[in-house]
Amino acid sequence: MRDPDALVIRYGELALKGGNRRRYEQILRRNVAKALKPLGEVEVSVAHARILAYPKQRAMAMARRAAEVFGVTSVSPAYRVEANVEAICAQAGEVLDDYFARTIRGATLRFRVRVKRADKAFPMRSGELERVVADHVLIGKEGIEIDLREADLTLGIEVRGTENYVFLERLAGPGGLPVGTSGRGLCLLSGGIDSPVAAWLTMKRGMGVGFVSFDSFPYIGEGSMRKIEDLARRVTRFQGPAQWFVVPFTQIQEAIRDSCPERYRVVLYRRMMTRLASAIAQRAGYLALVTGESLGQVASQTIENIDLIGRAADRVILRPLITYDKEEAVTLARRIGTLELSSRPEPDCCTIFQPRAPVIFGQVEDCEFAESKLPMESLLRDALDRTRVQVLDPNE
Ligand code: ATP
Ligand code: MG
Repeated sequence: MRDPDALVIRYGELALKGGNRRRYEQILRRNVAKALKPLGEVEVSVAHARILAYPKQRAMAMARRAAEVFGVTSVSPAYRVEANVEAICAQAGEVLDDYFARTIRGATLRFRVRVKRADKAFPMRSGELERVVADHVLIGKEGIEIDLREADLTLGIEVRGTENYVFLERLAGPGGLPVGTSGRGLCLLSGGIDSPVAAWLTMKRGMGVGFVSFDSFPYIGEGSMRKIEDLARRVTRFQGPAQWFVVPFTQIQEAIRDSCPERYRVVLYRRMMTRLASAIAQRAGYLALVTGESLGQVASQTIENIDLIGRAADRVILRPLITYDKEEAVTLARRIGTLELSSRPEPDCCTIFQPRAPVIFGQVEDCEFAESKLPMESLLRDALDRTRVQVLDPNE
């Protein structure tokens, strides 16, 4: 059977956005086009509450790729047909024959035809066309029966006038909103499992994500930063190129080690990270910070300590994983392809000079007193002056 002619791409929530709808559709169209472009030549357009992509080649690979784009709820690789009943029946028969040739079936297959008719001039009503097509394609087929309510296999037909489509498959998309519709956020990205998932979930709600990571060279090796870079690049697959800031953090950690109570080290590191990320966000135009924090997961993530860390920020902190169990984050990490990268054994900067007994219910007065012993201004300025930035491109 020949390659599908088009991808019928459906989207969800957009329809709810009233006057904004057109803008959302154009952003989604652009995002789909950008995601597909590296795979080959393709045209992408919007029509009748659908995105339509016309791949010149590699249609199936493009369908799978489109099904990763935020805002997309499903993708059907489809065959284009003329607007008449004979042509539709013939194409439907071919599609179903191909399915039968490719699959091994056991129990009786429950089957239905579903017609969506946008072209009201078409001479047949949807229900009627469904029956006619079903009758036609089932001729001579065994082990298959019509079940309108619960089907194992649904043959879809869209009648739109000049463009009509027949398809069998529906690849599920991730849903959410198109990246670029919810501003930009700066994600504190470590080499762990959680923060890449937090970045992905943020993108899912339409926010463009940049990354900032803290480097404890020479206490942790180059491998740690390369691991984070690989993770960042992997996540950019879901949105396109992103800035990645790397902040030298060793001096700050040494200063905290030398002047502050041991128990408070990790909370104080995290407050410094939050201050530095806020400053970078301010300069580079990010409206929010994003972290992989999850309530109660470790000592630094009791609600008391999350609160202390959050107080060092000058803007909203999004914590998409706040209610997630570790297992839930792991499942998502596997799905988006970051789990394997995160599992590479490299040390994280929070483990440097790790206290024997970290504070669990930290007090704001204690933090502030400890920080009064630090040359705060110069520590922050030095770190920011030495911060490096690069743009990570998913296709490199
Ligand atoms: P993760 O799996 O994301 O590393 P975690 O469970 O290990 O999270 P922590 O190490 O306490 O938790 O870190 C909590 C959050 O702080 C991380 O999700 C991340 O957003 C941020 N963070 C921690 N270390 C770094 C770092 N070296 N660079 C940037 N962000 C960091
Ligand atoms: Mg970590």
